[in-house]
Amino acid sequence: MKVLVPVKRVIDYNVKVRVKADQTGVELANVKMSMNPFDEISIEEALRLREAGKAEEVIAVSIGVQQCQETIRTALAMGADRGIHVLHDGELEPLAVAKMLKAIADKEGPSLILVGKQAIDDDCNQTGQMLAALLGWGQATFISKLEVGDTELTATREVDGGLETLTLKLPAVLTTDLRLNEPRYASLPNIMKAKKKPIDQMSPADLGVDPSPRLETLRVVEPPKREAGVIVADVAELVEKLRNVAKVI
Ligand code: AMP
Repeated sequence: MKVLVPVKRVIDYNVKVRVKADQTGVELANVKMSMNPFDEISIEEALRLREAGKAEEVIAVSIGVQQCQETIRTALAMGADRGIHVLHDGELEPLAVAKMLKAIADKEGPSLILVGKQAIDDDCNQTGQMLAALLGWGQATFISKLEVGDTELTATREVDGGLETLTLKLPAVLTTDLRLNEPRYASLPNIMKAKKKPIDQMSPADLGVDPSPRLETLRVVEPPKREAGVIVADVAELVEKLRNVAKVI
């Protein structure tokens, strides 16, 4: 069984994101970029499946600029077997990404695709769901536990007020949530080994996909600055402020 893991290159989660002066997007020049944290969790889960003898191959896929190869190398250093890079130097929306992932899935025939629940840059939370729909496969989103059998899998999802357990037939698309696992760090020997692992490069056209955006970003602005709070003397004053100042009760 092959496991396909899309890995997105995003602004590192420790970086304070700044909006560009012309409000067309966020500043990417000289900013530290990393693998989307949910995709690290997906890679970790795929590696655990391989280590448990349930998967033979873990393939990391990244779509975007040339530097996405670094993101794929990180996945290879964690332990993925090989990489696929779809080179595209422009805006990418979840539908275009999902179409390219579908084309790769049609070619590779994975039994499982482990997508991050959302990318921390655009927060879209759409790619996995669109991919499952395009493939016509079952999906379980926001999974926090996974057990894989020969023809089926059981996934636990965190939902409001509790946990939901689903059984799905393979092949399937899963989107991974924070509590699924704690990703490993790449060891130095594995970082060295990763340099020799293969990365196939292709273009959206090779996959028969037109990645042109369908959405237009009108402007990107910073959230309003939060005003300083006030300390109230007692409950009566709190209620008075909630009623007459904040007007929420
Ligand atoms: P989104 O729907 O944009 O929030 O992204 C959800 C997930 O889709 C990410 O965690 C990745 O697993 C995958 N994904 C989105 N964009 C890309 C990309 N350009 N390359 C690889 N994977 C991606």
